[in-house]
Amino acid sequence: MSFFDNLSKKVSNTAKSAAKKSSNLVEIAKLNMNISSEEDKINKLYAEIGKIAYSSYSAGKEVPEEYKTQCESIKTCLDNIKNFKKQIMALKQIKECPSCGNELEIDAVFCSKCGAKQEIIKPENSEAKESDKNDTAEECDKCEDTQEEKSDNEQDDESETEVE
Ligand SMILES: [Zn+2]
Repeated sequence: MSFFDNLSKKVSNTAKSAAKKSSNLVEIAKLNMNISSEEDKINKLYAEIGKIAYSSYSAGKEVPEEYKTQCESIKTCLDNIKNFKKQIMALKQIKECPSCGNELEIDAVFCSKCGAKQEIIKPENSEAKESDKNDTAEECDKCEDTQEEKSDNEQDDESETEVE
C-alpha cells in the first residue's frame, strides 16, 4: 500500500469515527432527555400518592404511622397559606364572600355574585395604632437620654485632655 493510500484510509477512518462519536452524542442527549421525562413523571406520581394520603388524613381516616408527621406538616403549611391570604386581603382592602368565595370590597354589604349578606368588617382599630405611637414616643425619650449621657462623657474626656 502506498503512503497516500494509507493516509486517505486513515483520514476516512477518523472522519467516520468522528461522525459516529457526534451521532452517539446526539443519541446520548436524547436518552438523557428520556430519563428526565421519566423522572418528571415519577415525581408527579409521588406527589399524587402524597395527595391521596393527605386527603385520607384530612378526612379523618386512619393513615399509616409513617405518613403522620408529613401530613401534620402539610396541615401547618395550609394553615399558614390561609393566614397569609387573609393578610393580603386585609392589605388589599377586600374580603371573601363566605358562601361563594367571591372577592368583595371590604365595606360590601351584599355579595355581587350570589347576593349573600356580608359581615361588616371594621377597619383596623385606631386605638391600637394610638398605643403604638405612645410606645415609639417612649423609646425616643430613652434614646435622647442615652445620647445626652454620651455627649456629657465626651465633653468630660475633652476637658481632661485639655488639662493634660
Ligand atoms: Zn357570594
